Amino acid sequence: MFESLSERLESAFKQLKGEGRISEINVATTVKEIRRALVDADVNYKIAKEFTDKVKDKAMGEKVLTAISPGQLMVKIVKDELVELMGTTEAELDLKGNPTVILIAGLQGSGKTTFSGKLASFLKTKKGKKPLLVAADIYRPAAIDQLKVLGGQIGVEVYSEPENKNAVQIAENAVKDAKAKGYNVVIVDTAGRLAVDEAMMTEVTNVRNAVKPQEILFVVDSMTGQDAVNTAKAFNDRLDFSGIVLTKLDGDTRGGAALTITYTVQKPIKFVSMGEKLDTLDVFYPERMAQRILG
Ligand code: GDP
Repeated sequence: MFESLSERLESAFKQLKGEGRISEINVATTVKEIRRALVDADVNYKIAKEFTDKVKDKAMGEKVLTAISPGQLMVKIVKDELVELMGTTEAELDLKGNPTVILIAGLQGSGKTTFSGKLASFLKTKKGKKPLLVAADIYRPAAIDQLKVLGGQIGVEVYSEPENKNAVQIAENAVKDAKAKGYNVVIVDTAGRLAVDEAMMTEVTNVRNAVKPQEILFVVDSMTGQDAVNTAKAFNDRLDFSGIVLTKLDGDTRGGAALTITYTVQKPIKFVSMGEKLDTLDVFYPERMAQRILG
């Protein structure tokens, strides 16, 4: 198991006994420990470095070493900084469209379809909305069936055109259908690939341009680790997404991807997914995530 950051810092500070304040020399040791802890939690190395440089500036001159527990005080500085970075306010969805269109994008296997079901269920039961789920993955016929099964479980209609190989048309038709039938939220589950590729990016960008979603949610597996930075950047460069959904947080990942992604794209994490059950959708609490990353 990982050693927690406060444990690491306490032992680092023990070696520095006698020095009154954080100084250029001793700060290097503690910053190194903080960086190691972040990288162990799967924060991208470059980002861990930038982040610790910031923390270093904050810690300089503070009376950390004379505090009763200098390690904990440093952890507090780090944690506050993490919380600030990951967003201190609870993110809301813009549901003012008529219908509201929510585009779900991300790599294959990231949890897009599961999340689409969870979101539909949440909007239906908690927000009193009438959602329509749209199967816009034209490459995996099984994706339509998967969404239909989910829709059946939560009592939400699924729009699909199994014969149509044009994702843009499917999404446009779904929005028309929603208008005609009085659905007020349209959740478009798009195709994903195992890695970012140009054709996939072009397709999802075309879908976005055609249906002009109020929300574009980028779904990412929290186990993604160091690669999260590239994936998030590629999607954000093309889609300029409005929020992040971090999935599979029920696993044993430390969740460093959360920091990597928000830091890289400066977008809020709006939801986290913690399991396959469709009736729970968890909002993101930066405090909890900071704690999880720091261990
Ligand atoms: P998609 O390819 O992006 O649509 O991904 P899916 O929604 O099909 O999810 C891929 C796999 O991850 C499936 O086996 C899901 O049951 C599973 N999954 C999705 N979200 C979660 C989650 O929050 N926790 C866990 N443990 N598994 C999840």
